[in-house]
Amino acid sequence: MEVINRKTCIRCGTCCQKGGPVLHHQDKQILLEGHVGHQHLVTIRKGELAFDPVSGTLTPVAQELVKVRGKGNDWSCCFFDRENSSCTIYEHRFLECRLLKCWDPSELQSIIGKETVTRADLINPGDPVMDVIEFHERQCPYDEVEKLVAVLSAQNSQPQILARLHALIRRDLAIRAYAIAELGLKEECEPFIFGRPLFKVLRSRGIEIERRLGLL
Ligand code: SF4
Ligand code: SF4
Repeated sequence: MEVINRKTCIRCGTCCQKGGPVLHHQDKQILLEGHVGHQHLVTIRKGELAFDPVSGTLTPVAQELVKVRGKGNDWSCCFFDRENSSCTIYEHRFLECRLLKCWDPSELQSIIGKETVTRADLINPGDPVMDVIEFHERQCPYDEVEKLVAVLSAQNSQPQILARLHALIRRDLAIRAYAIAELGLKEECEPFIFGRPLFKVLRSRGIEIERRLGLL
């Protein structure tokens, strides 16, 4: 993180525009009290790239994380009010937001990667959606995606790799569609339940599978 010559927060919103916070166990009460819902969250699956506020770079995550969503294709936290440069849930903001001081990253650094929550921590025990999440993890394992991407990066023309990635993308979309149509999952909660769709994850890495397969 860039160290700034400042002693207090001027609420400029620069940190909020770089991305929403990762949730820790200390944040669960904010959800229980209803200030924030699953529709405001996105899951980062283990191994996916995410913005690291300490290094200021995109880094593969060592464990599943749950973050506050951005706005559309923008990384800016969904609770950031750009017009007024303010946080719309300021009184109930998250642990990382409370500890983030752009002029002194030590407090934030001390909790990065510690006591972070997973989806299972934010879903009621016994909720059948956990079975669908486990099915999705088995059918579309993210570590396989990363291995395929590594081969693809080493050698651009790999029809079998492209075909496998395409199959995973289609399966990922099919499970999401099934959960929405058959199980009543709210579309707005899909990024929390399944993480970002694989095609979007790959596109953010500059990999357009359908274009490479000549399907677009
Ligand atoms: S902590 Fe965030 S909002 Fe406050 S001054 Fe620093 S960048 Fe701006
Ligand atoms: S929750 Fe509020 S303080 Fe935290 S990043 Fe979002 S807008 Fe900023």
